[in-house]
Amino acid sequence: MSEKCEAKECHIRCDEPGCAWEYEMDFADIPKWHKKPCPKCGNGEIISDSDMVAFRLMVAIIDASNEIDPDGKLPRVNAHVDTRVLRETSTPPTIPADNPCAGGGSVSR
Ligand SMILES: [Zn+2]
Repeated sequence: MSEKCEAKECHIRCDEPGCAWEYEMDFADIPKWHKKPCPKCGNGEIISDSDMVAFRLMVAIIDASNEIDPDGKLPRVNAHVDTRVLRETSTPPTIPADNPCAGGGSVSR
């Protein structure tokens, strides 16, 4: 059985104190929430610039995995990624516009 590397389940949520808004959505729709305020409390940004850096990195990892193993023959693992950890522990790098990760994660050969 071959299986491509993909993001199967995606949840976004508001990080504002006291707000528990959460939404399940398609991974590819994350950019639609970039810099949008919380629909419940009206505060914050649901997807910040830092979250977008993490999103682009994940897209690049998924694309690279599928380039390396296009037939899905290598063992697969399930991973849970909480972008809050990335945001709180690192300063997002500046990705040049000509970098493959900056334009949606396509990987050239
Ligand atoms: Zn909120």
